Amino acid sequence: MKWKNKADVVIIGGGIIGTATAYNLAKFGRKDVVVLEKGTVCGGSTGRCGAGIRAQWGTEMNCRLGLACLDIFEQLDSELGMPTGLNQGGYLLVAYSEKEFENLKKGMALQNGLGIKSRAVSLPEAREICPALDASDAVGFTYHARDGHADPFLTTFAYLEAAKRLGVSYFKNTEATGITVKGNKAVGVDTTKGHIDADAVVNCAGPYAQYVAKLGGIDIPNWGERHEALITEPVDPGVCPPMLMSFSGNYYIQQRPHGSIICGVSPEGHPQDFKLRATRQFITHMSAVLKKMLPSVKDIRVVRHWSGLYDMTPDGSPIIGETDVKNFYHSTGYSGHGFMLGPIAGRILAQRLTGNKPDIDFSTLDYRRFARGELIVEPNIT
Ligand SMILES: Cc1cc2nc3c(=O)[nH]c(=O)nc-3n(C[C@H](O)[C@H](O)[C@H](O)COP(=O)(O)OP(=O)(O)OC[C@H]3O[C@@H](n4cnc5c(N)ncnc54)[C@H](O)[C@@H]3O)c2cc1C
Repeated sequence: MKWKNKADVVIIGGGIIGTATAYNLAKFGRKDVVVLEKGTVCGGSTGRCGAGIRAQWGTEMNCRLGLACLDIFEQLDSELGMPTGLNQGGYLLVAYSEKEFENLKKGMALQNGLGIKSRAVSLPEAREICPALDASDAVGFTYHARDGHADPFLTTFAYLEAAKRLGVSYFKNTEATGITVKGNKAVGVDTTKGHIDADAVVNCAGPYAQYVAKLGGIDIPNWGERHEALITEPVDPGVCPPMLMSFSGNYYIQQRPHGSIICGVSPEGHPQDFKLRATRQFITHMSAVLKKMLPSVKDIRVVRHWSGLYDMTPDGSPIIGETDVKNFYHSTGYSGHGFMLGPIAGRILAQRLTGNKPDIDFSTLDYRRFARGELIVEPNIT
C-alpha cells in the first residue's frame, strides 16, 4: 500500500479495537483513516483471546456495552460481508457459595432491568444446557442464551477488510514512535516508515497503550497481565455448548463448533507481566479443572497452549475518550473483555469523532476518573 503523509485520523494498533474503530469511522464518513500496526493484524491480545461474548455483567455500563455488542454481533456477518464465527451457546455462570449466587442474582436483576434475559437455572437444567457438566458442588447457576463466542481472527479481518473497502489504509510492521503535539493539539504521528500529519490520533495499542499515551505526553494507568489458555483436540460436539464460567472457581471453558475445547484460568495474584510464556503450572491446574467440570472428557489431549496479555486498568473497566491533549483519544484498557466490546467501542468512539451522538454515553470511562477516585469496579470478572 502506498504510504500516506496525511490523514484525517491515525489509529495506533491493529487489534479488534483499532480495526472496529477504523471501520466505524469510515462508515460514519471519515474515510481518510490510517491504521498503524507495529506487527501484524491480530498479533496482539486479540489473536490470543478466548473470544467469549456476554451481556451478564455486574455494572450498568458493562451490561449496556455487552448488550449492544450482542445486537451488533448478531448482524455483523451481513454488515461486514464476511463470517465472524459467532456461536450463541449462551454463558452458564457457576456459583460455589450462597454469597456468590446472591451476587450473580443481583447482577441478573440489573441485567433484566436493562432488557438482558438472563435467568437462574437449577442443576438439572444446567446439565441439559451443558450435557457433560459435573458441578454437584455448585450452589447455583445463571444463564443467558444470547451470550456466546466468535472467532477473533475472522472478526478482526472482517472489520479490516470492510474498512479497507471503505477507503481505510492499513500499514502493518509500522510502529508509531512519536506523537506530534502543537499548541496542545495532536497534529501528527512519527512512525518507523515516516511521518503522517493527522487531524486526530487514536490510541488503540492494547496493553501497550500506556507507552503510546506517553508519546503524546499523557499518563494512563494501563498495563499487561499475562493470561494462559489452551485448546484441545476435537471431541463430539454437544459436550459443552455454552461458555462455562465461574468467577470464584476462576475458569472459563467453551467448545468451538468443530469440537475442540478452549479454556483458561486467571493467574494467581494478577501480577503485572508483559512476558509471553506458557507454563507447566497452567497446564497442570487447567487439566484438573477440566477433568472436574467435564469428567467424561478426562483423557482429552491438548493441541496447543499459549499466553496473551489482558490490557488492565485499576478498575478493570476501559478508558475511552479524548485526553488533555486535544484530538488525541484513547480506546484501551479492556481487561479480559476487549474482544466482545470491540464492536460497540469502535462504534461509539467513531460516533463521537464524526459529530454524532454516541449510542451509549461513555463519559464516565474518561481516564481522569482514576485521579478523581471514581472507579467503575466490575464484580463479574475472574
Ligand atoms: C488468554 C486471553 C483470553 C481472553 N479472553 C477474552 C474473552 O473471552 N472475551 C473478550 O472479550 N476478551 C478476551 N480477552 C481480552 C481481549 O483479548 C483484549 O481485551 C482485546 O483483544 C484488546 O484488543 P485491542 O485491540 O485493544 O488490543 P490488541 O489486540 O493487543 O491490539 C493492540 C495492537 O497495538 C499494536 N501496537 C502496540 N503499540 C504500537 C505502536 N507503538 N505502534 C503500532 N502498533 C502498536 C500491537 O502490536 C497490537 O497488535 C482475552 C485475552 C487473553 C490474553
